[in-house]
Amino acid sequence: MGDSRPQLFNTLTRRVEPFEPLFPDARDAAGRPAIGMYCCGPTVYDFGHIGNFRTFVFADLVRRYLEFRGFGVNHVMNITDVEDKIIRRVRESGKTLREFTGHYEAEFLRDLESLGCLRPHHLPRATEFMPQIIALIEKLEQRGIAYRAADGSVYFSIEKYRGCGCRYGQLVNLNFDAMRVGERVANDEYDKESLADFALWKARVPDDGDVFWDSPWGQGRPGWHIECSAMSMTILGPSFDVHLGGEDLAFPHHEDEIAQSEGAGVQTPGRPFVKHWLHGAHLLVEGKKMSKSLGNYFTVRDLLAKGYTGREVRTLLLSAHFRETFNFTLAGLDGARAQLARIDECLAKLRELVAQAPSPESVAQAPSPELVADFIAAMDDDLNVSKAWAVVFDWVRDTNRALADGQLSPAHAAAALGEWARLDSVFGLGTKASDEAPAEIVALANDRVAAKKAKDFARADAIRNELKAKGWTVEDTAKGPKLKRA
Ligand SMILES: [Zn+2]
Repeated sequence: MGDSRPQLFNTLTRRVEPFEPLFPDARDAAGRPAIGMYCCGPTVYDFGHIGNFRTFVFADLVRRYLEFRGFGVNHVMNITDVEDKIIRRVRESGKTLREFTGHYEAEFLRDLESLGCLRPHHLPRATEFMPQIIALIEKLEQRGIAYRAADGSVYFSIEKYRGCGCRYGQLVNLNFDAMRVGERVANDEYDKESLADFALWKARVPDDGDVFWDSPWGQGRPGWHIECSAMSMTILGPSFDVHLGGEDLAFPHHEDEIAQSEGAGVQTPGRPFVKHWLHGAHLLVEGKKMSKSLGNYFTVRDLLAKGYTGREVRTLLLSAHFRETFNFTLAGLDGARAQLARIDECLAKLRELVAQAPSPESVAQAPSPELVADFIAAMDDDLNVSKAWAVVFDWVRDTNRALADGQLSPAHAAAALGEWARLDSVFGLGTKASDEAPAEIVALANDRVAAKKAKDFARADAIRNELKAKGWTVEDTAKGPKLKRA
């Protein structure tokens, strides 16, 4: 690999370019080149769906790969815990904002973990950054880029921003001729057709209920876009290396983040807010846009309830290039299960061999000594996961062949497992969860057999439900009950 650098597509420059840290001399505590990375996190008003998690698994892959390539990544993912949709749901739920969002935040983190994602180093909540958000809006106001509207809300003036020599439309091409000066949009989400000044601070309205903060502009709450600018720059500084998100966030959310952050003029001249912008493509499910009415809307827990594991879901989400629209299907999950079984079987045989008493060294070479180098070549090419999986399956095939031919010594097997462990620090598949039920579960299953014998079917059903709640299903077979992981 020598001095080679990973090559990554940058939405800002619209080309694949070598990944170079923004601050080449910066080092983290472990002495590695330090990288700041921000990923727009969940808006915690519901369970995340599989399309959301494609982005988070992609962010996890980027982090893991940059770490594998020797960078010290400081990974920030915000929690959007105040926003238009949240306020609507809080009102409907009758709960406090914190009670309502706290529940979905905890569930989000559980889903993230079940998909094998590393916990980001920082998970800032928007509601805990009000002083920084207000200070940033004040800075924009001082520079004449933010202004107050008649209702007391504060807006970002695209005209004034452009007048300062700044560029609006860095991530997407915009048609300014279609824009009417002074038009405003209060909603957090809008399309390119309604290119308009957007809200930084929204004055309190009766529908907001108890969700408001004091500010120099009176009571109100921040717009969604300013939250991310304030949190990212507070934690990572006014200029940082990588910003990620789903492609649907490029406009207006990310464009507005750039405008607010660069409009505040806090960067060293010549330095951007963010150097590399990475956007993950959309996800279709069974060939269609996900929707609850089509029955193709899946949360992570929906898939686990169908008997798939987080590992299988992760494998499928990592099977396509991040810039390609991906069609997620249940058949694809079955395919991921079969792929994992091939890998697991090969690894199990290698472990078995390592556990054997040392035998005289075989004359054969270790399998695919190029495994790691080939993997790097694939992933350096704009995270080409398809090529990386091909490298893995060639290695599995060659290893199986060498094992069958008795050409591998325990030392070879140990070396092969070591190489796999390096790759898996990026794939994050880990090892298969043991299928053996723990004693507590076996005891419950035995109680159920006893209940059935005693014709106490209500009790037998209750135990079945308890097993299910603990993640196990029980099947009655000719040989007696069989426990399986749910
Ligand atoms: Zn964001």
